[in-house]
Amino acid sequence: MKYVSTRGHADRKHFCEILLEGLAPDGGLYLPERYPQVNEATLALWRDLPYHELAFEILSLYIDDIPADDLRAICRKTYTEEVFGTKEIVPLKQLEDGLYLEALSNGPTLAFKDMAMQLLGNLFEYELARRGEELNILGATSGDTGSAAEYAMKGKKGVRVFMTSPNGRMSPFQQAQMFSLQDANIHNLALEGVFDDCQDIVKAVSSDAAFKRKYRIGTVNSINWARLVAQVVYYFAGYFQATSGRVQATQQKVSFSVPSGNFGNICAGHVARMMGLPIERLVLATNENDVLDEFFRTGVYRVRAAADTHETSSPSMDISKASNFERFVFDLLGRDGDRVRSLFGEQLSATGRFDLSADPAFRTAAGSFGFSSGKSTHADRVATIRDTFERHGVMIDTHTADGLKVGREQRQPGVPMIVLETALPIKFAATIVEALGREPDRPAKFEGIEKLPRRVTVLAADVQAVKSFIATHCQ
Ligand SMILES: *Cc1c(COP(=O)(O)O)cnc(C)c1O
Repeated sequence: MKYVSTRGHADRKHFCEILLEGLAPDGGLYLPERYPQVNEATLALWRDLPYHELAFEILSLYIDDIPADDLRAICRKTYTEEVFGTKEIVPLKQLEDGLYLEALSNGPTLAFKDMAMQLLGNLFEYELARRGEELNILGATSGDTGSAAEYAMKGKKGVRVFMTSPNGRMSPFQQAQMFSLQDANIHNLALEGVFDDCQDIVKAVSSDAAFKRKYRIGTVNSINWARLVAQVVYYFAGYFQATSGRVQATQQKVSFSVPSGNFGNICAGHVARMMGLPIERLVLATNENDVLDEFFRTGVYRVRAAADTHETSSPSMDISKASNFERFVFDLLGRDGDRVRSLFGEQLSATGRFDLSADPAFRTAAGSFGFSSGKSTHADRVATIRDTFERHGVMIDTHTADGLKVGREQRQPGVPMIVLETALPIKFAATIVEALGREPDRPAKFEGIEKLPRRVTVLAADVQAVKSFIATHCQ
C-alpha cells in the first residue's frame, strides 16, 4: 500500500516513510491510494477477535513495511486491559434500545486521543530504533492532545517531547495530569500567553528549516495518518458490539454520532465506511464552532477568524478550521488533487472560504458518503448531561453531550445509533457541577493528582526562548 497527497503533487510513499512526517511536500495530507475492501466473510472472521488482533488485521491492510510479527506485537502491547481498563478496550454502554455510548476514553488521559496516541508512541519507538534516529516532538496544546502525547511518549527510547501550553489556562485537572509527569524525556513549557501564541511559536520554530533539521523536530498532530488509521479500528469494534446477537438476514447497518473538531475522529469513520463497514450515517456534531455543520448544511466552507472562534464548555472542539477536512473533500471530489489544491491552497488563502453548493459532488456528501450534521450549544450540553444522568444514571462529559444531543435528533427506525464518548466528565468538572450540582466521579488512580510535585518550566511567549530551551535539552 502506498500513500498519495490530497494535492496530487507528491511522491507516493509507504507507511513508515510518512509516519514521522507532517504535511506532504506539496502542502497536502496523505491518504492511501485506495481503500482495502472488507466483505461479509471478512466481517464474520473479525467479529469475535480481541481488540488488539482486530487492530492488527486492519492495520496490516495499510502497513506493508513492518513485518507482520512485529506489527502484531506492537498492537498487542498497545491495547491492553491494563492500559484501557477493560477487556473490550472500547465497551458499548446501552442507554436505551438501539442507542449506545462507545467508551473511547478509558485510556491513560481519559480522552479518546489515547486510542491513537498510545499506538503512535509504540510505532515511533519501533521505527526510530530501526533507523537509529531520534525525534524531538514539539507541540502546542490547550489540554487533551498534549497530555495524550506525553503519556504515549513518556519513557520511550529515541523520543523527547517539548509541549507548550498557555500558562495557567488549562483546567486544573489537565495541568495536574501533564505537569506531574516526572519522565526525563517529557518537557512541559508553560508559555506566558494564550493558546494561539503557543501555536504561532511552534509554527515559527518548525518553519526554521535549519533548526528543524539540526534538532530533528517533529509533530504528533491530528493530520498524522497513523493516528487516523488507528481510530478506524474502534468503528469496527463498535459495529460488532452493537450488532452482536441480531439476526443477520440482511446486513445490519449502524450509525455513528461523532463530537467533532478537527475532523480526525469522523474521518476515521469515513475510512471505515469506504472499506465497506455497513455504516448508514456518519453524524457530525459540532458545538457553537459550527464550521463543519455549516458546510454539511450549505456546501460553504468558511474558515473563522480568531475573534469568531468561541471559547466553549466543550473546548476540544473549539476550532476555526478543521485540519483533516481536506481528506474528505479529496474523496468527495473524486480524488481530483488539482481541484483540492486550488480550493485549500489559493481559494482559502485569498478569501477564507469556498463554496461547493452548486457542485453535484456536494449532494453526494449525504448520499454516497452518508454524512449528516448538527450543532449543540452550552444550554444543550447542560440539559443533555442532566437528562442522561437522571434517566440513565450515566454521567457524560461535555463533548460526548454534544454528540448525544445531535445523535438523538438523527436516529432512524431500526438503525442502532452509536455515540462516541470522547472524554470522561472529570476532565471538564465545572460544567458537570453546573448541570448536576455535584462533582464528577474521579477514577481512583487520579485521586490527589493536583498535589503531586510538578515538572514544568514557565517561559516568555517568545520563539527564541523556546528554541534555546530545546537546544539545551537535546543532549
Ligand atoms: C480532540 C477531541 C475532539 C475532537 O476530535 P477531532 O478528531 O478533532 O474531530 C472531541 N472531543 C474530545 C474530548 C477531544 O479531545
